[in-house]
Amino acid sequence: MAKLDLHCHSTASDGALPPDELVARAAARGSRMLALTDHDCTAGLALARQAAEQAGLDLINGVEISVSWQKRAVHIVGLDINPDCPALVAGLHSVREGRVERARRMGEALAKIGIHGAFDGALQRCGNPEMIGRTHFARFLVDSGEVKNVAAVFRKYLVKGKPGYVAHEWATLADAVSWIRQAGGIAVIAHPGRYEIGRMLMEQLVEDFKAVGGEAIEVVSASHTLDQSHKFALLAARMELLASAGSDFHAPGEGGRDVGLTANLPPICVPVWSRFSPPRATPSAD
Ligand code: AMP
Ligand code: MN
Ligand code: MN
Ligand code: MN
Repeated sequence: MAKLDLHCHSTASDGALPPDELVARAAARGSRMLALTDHDCTAGLALARQAAEQAGLDLINGVEISVSWQKRAVHIVGLDINPDCPALVAGLHSVREGRVERARRMGEALAKIGIHGAFDGALQRCGNPEMIGRTHFARFLVDSGEVKNVAAVFRKYLVKGKPGYVAHEWATLADAVSWIRQAGGIAVIAHPGRYEIGRMLMEQLVEDFKAVGGEAIEVVSASHTLDQSHKFALLAARMELLASAGSDFHAPGEGGRDVGLTANLPPICVPVWSRFSPPRATPSAD
């Protein structure tokens, strides 16, 4: 395992732990480098940094931007960003706008099939009301005994074609990458294995992404099998993309991996952290 994790969430978006507890948890597990990448929001970074200084952990400023590409949602992580960059701040603000209205519509859609109080229930589970999203609805439905776990709620209610799904227009790929670059960061295609697209569309996504200044792809992700990691390592090498690694941790016991450590990148990869400013070495296994 590598003692780093470049993708995780706090209560500033849809994670269950406050930023300082998240950092402390990663440090306690032996992590040396952590990027906090909340959805569409950088509000958790200041508290995370305080905790990282105490724990002696290298905190990388990050964000995960929701993008609409070819009528589907794609997530673009920004790493080593300046969170105060005005273009990024304004861009993220524009992406967050509309989440509350979308959530109201999700609540109405669920009410139509007999599930009442979902909007209020989701809002209560939100650390940051403007960041209300599907995960908060999923936790409400689990807590109310409706469904056994978050993954099952998504399958049953919250994905395209299911009764609680509400289509939404996120940022464009070009805008998201441009905000990250203006903030001095590196744009990364998050969890590519999660998009239900074939080889041709994946190539198209990478080409479109590179054409607007994208530079990296998550090769190691808790959403990936070992086979997928190897497949994306080859894709990264062939398309000359840097490689990233992240847990996409949201909450203890909520599926996926715990925070702080990730599988080693295949040796063919050029690690994204070798291009941070200043460049970082892979944290040693001491
Ligand atoms: P939203 O931005 O509101 O559309 O919510 C997206 C979030 O929902 C993702 O970041 C994940 O945390 C979560 N999510 C999406 N699909 C699933 C799934 N199939 N199972 C569990 N969580 C999911
Ligand atoms: Mn999430
Ligand atoms: Mn994501
Ligand atoms: Mn994520």
